[in-house]
Amino acid sequence: MPPHKFSITMNTQRKKTIYKEIHLDNKLTQGEALAKQQIHNADHILDQTGLDIVTCGSCGCVNIVDVAKEVQECYSCGYTDDTSSFPSIFFNGMTISREVTLEEEFLTWYLGGSDQEQYDTISSIGRRVVEQLQESGSAVLNVADLMNESLDVYLEERKR
Ligand SMILES: [Zn+2]
Repeated sequence: MPPHKFSITMNTQRKKTIYKEIHLDNKLTQGEALAKQQIHNADHILDQTGLDIVTCGSCGCVNIVDVAKEVQECYSCGYTDDTSSFPSIFFNGMTISREVTLEEEFLTWYLGGSDQEQYDTISSIGRRVVEQLQESGSAVLNVADLMNESLDVYLEERKR
């Protein structure tokens, strides 16, 4: 195969915070390896020691609690309640927040969805790149172009 050029141009100006649930069984989603590792680490600690890393339901301080105990007491503020009032920090399905550009947010949506949808999207990008390579010997794909093509659907789905 001849060498080819494939570039995604990002505009880093406009930023926004997005919230994302991290699920261990979602294999295709990019950029979540570090968050998944934290969940694995926390699970490992819990399995080996029976200790969980939580936050106090009253003051928010991080506590390490013995999950076998029915009642937990915050070391910082003295708040006492059952374990459900001391939520885990790391768990399968936890939400992380990230500051992203509009382009990144769009790409997360564009490349997201079910495993089948993700596969279809990546296949269509591949076909597009191949067509361009065959026509002109190089291929360029811009986030801005993808946004322009899908903007109506994107904006409609964002409202949900
Ligand atoms: Zn507390």
